[in-house]
Parts: sequence; structure tokens; C-alpha cells
Amino acid sequence: MRDPAAELRALERDGLRRRLRPLDSAQGPRVALADHGDCLNFSSNDYLGLASDEGLKESYQKNIGRFGVGSGASRLVCGTMAAHLRLEEKIAALKRTEAAITYSSGYAAATGSLPALCGKGDIILLDKLCHASLIDGARLSGATLRIFPHNDLDRLESHLRWSARRIDHDGRILVVTESVFSMDGDLAPLAGIVECKERHGALLLVDEAHALGVLGPRGRGLAAATGLEGRVDFQMGTFSKAVGLSGGYLCGDRAMIDLLINRARSFIYSTAPSPALAATVDEALDLVSGERGDHLRATLLAHRRAFSPDATSAIFPVILGENETALAASTALLEKGFLVPAIRYPTVPKGSARLRITLSAAHRDTDITSLKNALAELRENRYHSITP
Ligand SMILES: *Cc1c(COP(=O)(O)O)cnc(C)c1O
Repeated sequence: MRDPAAELRALERDGLRRRLRPLDSAQGPRVALADHGDCLNFSSNDYLGLASDEGLKESYQKNIGRFGVGSGASRLVCGTMAAHLRLEEKIAALKRTEAAITYSSGYAAATGSLPALCGKGDIILLDKLCHASLIDGARLSGATLRIFPHNDLDRLESHLRWSARRIDHDGRILVVTESVFSMDGDLAPLAGIVECKERHGALLLVDEAHALGVLGPRGRGLAAATGLEGRVDFQMGTFSKAVGLSGGYLCGDRAMIDLLINRARSFIYSTAPSPALAATVDEALDLVSGERGDHLRATLLAHRRAFSPDATSAIFPVILGENETALAASTALLEKGFLVPAIRYPTVPKGSARLRITLSAAHRDTDITSLKNALAELRENRYHSITP
């Protein structure tokens, strides 16, 4: 039998061992690492700084008073409360779709939805850089999988032609991509993808995990920003990033959502999220899609531009190649007081280990400048390839 200690040693040897790093503080632009002390945090997905927002903290407490702390059962048993339904109406309205289903996480949304939408005899086409949750969901589905090179419309087109020839008349072809890619921060060429999938009668699922609250009018995401929301079949995402809390969602047609309620196993066989959480996410969405959200997005945009003129999102990869190089750069930054994670395989392809810098509206202008200076120093000393 394999010895777990030996497996861990192998991970260590390859620079792939992960360790948990406890915080002694709340989530925010400044955090206290239990083993290191205070540092500036450039690692979270809390793009608007809402994870510790005073108003939302108060709402959460008030909602616990109103709804209790637990939901008691799965949504289909007796766990569906008014708060869950109101949240689903809210996100569907924001995304301009007929209906929505919410899950306990974005991971559960992907691994529940994909196998409910597709199965044996269907075909799923995934962008090469899709998030692990989408890959896992696609694998679980039992559908035939094809990967197209990242953002490559020509290859998507040829995969779609291949799929159209192969599929039964009632089979589904589903194209899956992200709007803002989680480890690269670049955007999908959504207009091209929509045209392509429509030419071949395929469906399209777009994971807006890093776009909700960040891109588009009122932070409604890339589909809204590009005027394509009516032509994207499924808009998926999470409340755990810019919205500051947690929970996943998928928006689409009523019939498709009803099908998911009947078939998505991570929805059916999992206790409903706390109703107090659902009610607070509902309020957070009002905040994100309102004037305060616009203000926070303007601050985030200013930070993005100050950090790098050609920023397409709040995520900046600094690709360094080897695991050890990325780890050493991350450690060097931590010594200067900056928490910037080294991202390695299998989160990113082998040979593309990187620093992943994320900015938040809660950062101060001076935080951005000091990070830029620290990166410039690293570049001069050791890491010539660092260009923010
Ligand atoms: C974070 C993320 C998820 C998972 O969402 P959670 O709510 O954290 O489970 C799914 N897809 C993408 C692209 C993500 O970045």
C-alpha cells in the first residue's frame, strides 16, 4: 500500500507541496498571518472588499435573528425558504434570465449542473484553461469531452463541426468557458464563441466567477458587458468572490433550471445553504449592483490602471515557469510584507508556475505603489521576467 508520507515527500521534492496558512485576522487588504504577522494581501478574490464590509456584517447578524443559522435539510426536502427563492429571483433578474438555481458553492454549481445537463451521447467542449470545477463536472457527466486551445475560435469551430457530425438528433453539444480566466485574468472572446456555437446549434455555459461584480454595467458580468446575455444559455458563477460571501449559481431558461432542480446531485443531496447566508447574499447583490458597487468598481479600475496599463481584469499573473522559482518569488515578497501566492500545477499547466496578484477596491493607492516597487526590486535582483 502506498505510504502517504512518501507521497507528500514526492510533492515536496517537485515543489508541489501545499500547506494551509492560517490567518489571525479577518479577510481584507491587510491580514495577519499566524506564522508571519501583518502583511498586505494581494491574494484574495474579494475584489470589492466586501468580505468584511461593516454593513454586510450587520445584515448577516440581523438575518440570523430572522431566519436562524441552519436550513435543516436539502432544498427538496424542507430546506427551501423564502430567502433562497428571493436570492434566485434576484440573480436571475440581474442576469436577465428566466430563472436561476443556487448551490452551496461555485464548485457544487459546476459539478452539479454539468452532469445534469449532459450525459452519455452528449458532447462537452471545454476551453483548455477552464477551472477545475468545470473539468470535474464535465468528467462526471459521462459526456464525450473535447478540449480546445485557450480562446482559440478556429479550433472551437472545428471541434463544433466534428461534434455536429457525430451527435444524435436529440443530443446536446455544450461549449464551456469562463468570462475572466481565474489564473490568467484574460477574457474569453465571447462574441466569437456565441456566433460559433449558434452556427452549430450548440449550447453555451459561461462561468462568470471572476466577472460578477467586476465587469459590465452594474457589475453584471461579461455577457452583459458585451450585450450577449440573451445568447448565452447558462451564466454560472459564485457569490464567493466580488460578492464577498459564498454560494454558487446558474442562470438560464425556466425549463433548464427545473431540470437541474430534478437532476443536479450536488443540489439534491446536500443541505441547503444557511438561509441567513442566502438573505445576506441577496443584500450584497443589491450593494454590488447599486451605486456603492459602481463606486467600488471605479476604485478597482483605478487600481488596475495604476498597476498595469493593459489590465483586462483584477487578476495579474506573473508567469515564472518553474515551481521553485515561483515559490521563491512568493517567499521573497512575503519577506517584504506582501502576500502573493505561488500558483503551481495542477492549478496551472506544468512549466507555467506563477505569482497570481489580485487587486481589491479595498486596497489603498499606496498599497498598489508599494507592490509595484517591491516587484521592480525583485526583477532587478533576481526575477528578470517579472513584468507587472
Ligand atoms: C472560484 C471558482 C469557482 C468555484 O467557486 P466557489 O464558490 O469558490 O466554489 C468556479 N469557477 C471558477 C472559474 C472559479 O474561479
